[in-house]
Amino acid sequence: MENLREPQIQQKRSRRLILFPVPLQGHINPMLQLAEILYSRGFSITIIHTHFNSPTSSNYPYFTFEPISDGLSTTQASTSDIVALLTILNVNCVTPFRECLTRLLSENQEEPIACLICDGIFHFTQAVADSLKLPRIILRATSVASFLALHSFPLLLQKGYLPKQDSQLEEPVPELPPLKVKDIPVMATHDPKIMYQLVASISKEMKASSGIIWNSFEDLEQFALTAVRQEFPIPIFPIGPFHKYSPASSSSLLIQDPSCISWLDKQAPRSVIYVSFGSLAAMNETEFVETAWGLANSKRPFLWVVRPGSIYGSDWIEQLPHLFLENVSEKGHIVKWAPQKEVLAHPAVGGFWTHNGWNSTVESICEEVPMLCRPCFADQMVNARYVSHVWRIGMQLENGLERGEIERSIRRLMVEKDGEEMRERVIKLKEKVDLSLRKDGSSCKSLEGLVSFILSF
Ligand code: UDP
Repeated sequence: MENLREPQIQQKRSRRLILFPVPLQGHINPMLQLAEILYSRGFSITIIHTHFNSPTSSNYPYFTFEPISDGLSTTQASTSDIVALLTILNVNCVTPFRECLTRLLSENQEEPIACLICDGIFHFTQAVADSLKLPRIILRATSVASFLALHSFPLLLQKGYLPKQDSQLEEPVPELPPLKVKDIPVMATHDPKIMYQLVASISKEMKASSGIIWNSFEDLEQFALTAVRQEFPIPIFPIGPFHKYSPASSSSLLIQDPSCISWLDKQAPRSVIYVSFGSLAAMNETEFVETAWGLANSKRPFLWVVRPGSIYGSDWIEQLPHLFLENVSEKGHIVKWAPQKEVLAHPAVGGFWTHNGWNSTVESICEEVPMLCRPCFADQMVNARYVSHVWRIGMQLENGLERGEIERSIRRLMVEKDGEEMRERVIKLKEKVDLSLRKDGSSCKSLEGLVSFILSF
């Protein structure tokens, strides 16, 4: 595959792009990957970022970083109510963002700023861009299908699917096949009205934007892309998977434990189940202990990421029974954070037990690893349904976390015929990834379209 960064690195840069990521791991990663892709296409890059969860600028010496104040209190910055956090950021960042952008526009006259590329969640940026007469392109860090489900909230409210009723969870949503009511991508928050408001503002300001970039590709989400094109009559650029264009620098907010790779080196090919639920999902003590025994009883080697603070009421793995640790000894390796893309690419990994964040889902497809899905909230629910029922490259733990079901599911994924068929399908899907990234492939052509579009401003 062509390395996009190296050949053009010395060329004269004529236009500057201003990128503004949402400060969450699953949003920072694709934005910085996109920045690298566009840098390789000859653009200069400035990243405006909040102090909260600021990216490691030293990993990107060829970008300019502009920190702005986010005004978050310590309590606000450590909340688990992500809807509340995003809502506050959409208010607090308005003035610092406008001031920063105004200054950058006046300073960069020799290298004109072509446009702003913002995470779609930062809906306030449309009004700022309009007032400064700067085109604004959106990056959506989720799947197209999950965005369409969010965009349908007004309809789902009107039809009575929202708020979700326990008695309806298993019912299909005919307006959004193959979703069930339980898959509608809501997030737990103190006031659901605020979530509906946030979603409505995101959709409205996406419609007002100049175009939308997706970390997805035509062959993966053909129907959803057709629907989004009908609903949003602006240029749409599905150029993913981003991280496959060139070896990207690390935008990890946590330190990745390198012992994962040396431990994997000692395991047999395709024998290991890799377990990680991303940067936000959490579980209670009972779920944690059930997960641990499910893994141990499956008798498969496992590499398990337990993020500090992801088990309610404990700092890390203190709640693990001693018996469990004695039982698994060398068979399991537990770390706080992993170099996930390298882990998934390791020949010893045979399955991924995931929460189906969009980045994790795409990374798993790109390394041909079938999935055991345990979505927790928001777009994860939709991604997991697509993995298990549309692409059929994984299966869901549908009934919560119970050790017997976990053990059976891991066996099914790792050693039974079902799992083998899922692997065959994910290998075929990966072939489509490769095709889309070839010179004449859909993502590559879409990227050419994006570059020409930006240069036309
Ligand atoms: N990730 C990582 N190490 C880990 C777990 C996750 O580097 O131990 C990365 C992963 O490769 C992905 C991102 O963190 O790029 C998580 O994004 P995703 O959309 O999957 O989930 P989120 O964290 O937003 O729920």
